[in-house]
Amino acid sequence: GDTIGILGGGQLGRMMAMAAARLGLDCHIYAPDAASPAFSVARHHTVGAYDDAAALAAFAASVKVITYEFENVPVASVEGLSTLVRPAPPALAVAQDRLAEKAFLADCGLPVARHRAVDSAADIADAIAELGAPAILKTRRMGYDGKGQARLTADTDPAAAFDAIGAAPAILEEMIPFTAETSTVLARAADDRTVAYDAPANHHADGILRRSVLPGPLDPTTEAAAAEMVAAVAARLDYVGVLAIEWFVSADPARPLIANEMAPRVHNTGHWTEDGAITSQFENHIRAVAGWPLGATTRLVDITMQNLIGADADDWARHLENPAARLHLYGKGAHRPGRKMGHVNFVGRPVDSSAKG
Ligand code: ATP
Ligand code: MG
Ligand code: MG
Repeated sequence: GDTIGILGGGQLGRMMAMAAARLGLDCHIYAPDAASPAFSVARHHTVGAYDDAAALAAFAASVKVITYEFENVPVASVEGLSTLVRPAPPALAVAQDRLAEKAFLADCGLPVARHRAVDSAADIADAIAELGAPAILKTRRMGYDGKGQARLTADTDPAAAFDAIGAAPAILEEMIPFTAETSTVLARAADDRTVAYDAPANHHADGILRRSVLPGPLDPTTEAAAAEMVAAVAARLDYVGVLAIEWFVSADPARPLIANEMAPRVHNTGHWTEDGAITSQFENHIRAVAGWPLGATTRLVDITMQNLIGADADDWARHLENPAARLHLYGKGAHRPGRKMGHVNFVGRPVDSSAKG
């Protein structure tokens, strides 16, 4: 049939499957963990490892198109599939290595933080000498939610910093004195058309997104320039689906926007769209991978998305009392510190469309 295959069973896959169901499309989720939050909302699921070629082949044969909600699916596993994969594997490959990602984004014309590849404590000392301190050390692969990162000052012992993040290969980046963080969430269809959502102000604590607030920090000209840069990145990858790029907003007029990283998937800073836009990011991702036309991204209301992280989720019930709150829980069992358990969209005033011209 027209079943959509999704690699990855977390909350992003769960929300994709819910959007697909609303459009009458079935999903088949493939994930290694039997307790995956996406399984309970999808028609079919397979518990399998990402490197189990036989299980992946059977999964691929059962679906019309494959997408992913998890950016660390091994590229080789995806490349070996006979079924259409959207977005195409090169997007995954580039997003899985912070060094390759920065080179690619810079090649697409996006400003990025100055950085050096560092594979030893000695490299760190050299890189600090060139880039200055403070700086931020990150693993090149597998980091998320600020894991695998350490902030360095001129006094930090390079060897200790290296131990703190785990292992090489790593990257050292200049610390950007940003005035705000924002993101562009863009959808690109199989016919090359693109639509972008309004860019929120993103607030992080301990490397984890806490809140996305709309309207965001950019003036309309800068916001349009950001969307154009992301559209250029998507075009280079012949991308089909939702693509997000995180930005630092800088007070330096020479580079008002600096690209932090890209995500080849739906993005946490787009969760507001479920309750604040005509078409959610999840629906537009499903529409794109299904080969359908995209829906309008028009923002309807001022809105704040707040993540429920770890123990924040314990008193979720209080949001039921708030007439402005739209509660989303991921159905994960136990909370752990730093684990994303759900989010709340606080819906504010309608956007005055007459004022927008
Ligand atoms: P996720 O994928 O969950 O967004 P991540 O682990 O890939 O997170 P980054 O986006 O690289 O991490 O960094 C997390 C946060 O740390 C950023 O949103 C920003 O607040 C801060 N940060 C990262 N790099 C820099 C930098 N070069 N200068 C200043 N702040 C930074
Ligand atoms: Mg990241
Ligand atoms: Mg990030």
